[in-house]
Amino acid sequence: MSILDRHIENHKVKAVPGSMMVTNLYTAGVAGEAFLRSLKDREEILGSYCATCKKAFLPAKLFCERCLSRLSEAEAETMKRVAPSEGQLQTFTKVYVDLDNRPLESPQVIGFVTFKGFEGGLIHRIFASNEKKLKAGAKVKVVFEPSHQRKGSILDIAHFEVL
Ligand SMILES: [Zn+2]
Repeated sequence: MSILDRHIENHKVKAVPGSMMVTNLYTAGVAGEAFLRSLKDREEILGSYCATCKKAFLPAKLFCERCLSRLSEAEAETMKRVAPSEGQLQTFTKVYVDLDNRPLESPQVIGFVTFKGFEGGLIHRIFASNEKKLKAGAKVKVVFEPSHQRKGSILDIAHFEVL
């Protein structure tokens, strides 16, 4: 039977009990790895700079989005740009369920944060001690997880706090 054949008679489909070992490895890529290492090791939000377009991008990229030129190695000093620790909340939403559609214990605010001098931005958790401060255009500051809890993930940023 090929993949183009359809199972019309479901009783003819056989199941074989057992387990099959499946392994995989997802890599973040050259620029993605530099970005994640920067969060983990230096508490820095790493971007890339295109000398041709004279633009900085966030997060770090291997190729310029505009002219497609290679941004050298993302870790090369001339191509490296670190975003400021404060950014601007562009938009946000409140979510009530997780990625598997299970209700969250408490609703979470997710927002898009941009940084002065950079194109692009980050989507992340937003924390506001006072909900009245939560609005598009609000200043936010990055809050990192303690160093011993960081794993080289975007979640090494705990959240962005509304100032
Ligand atoms: Zn460019």
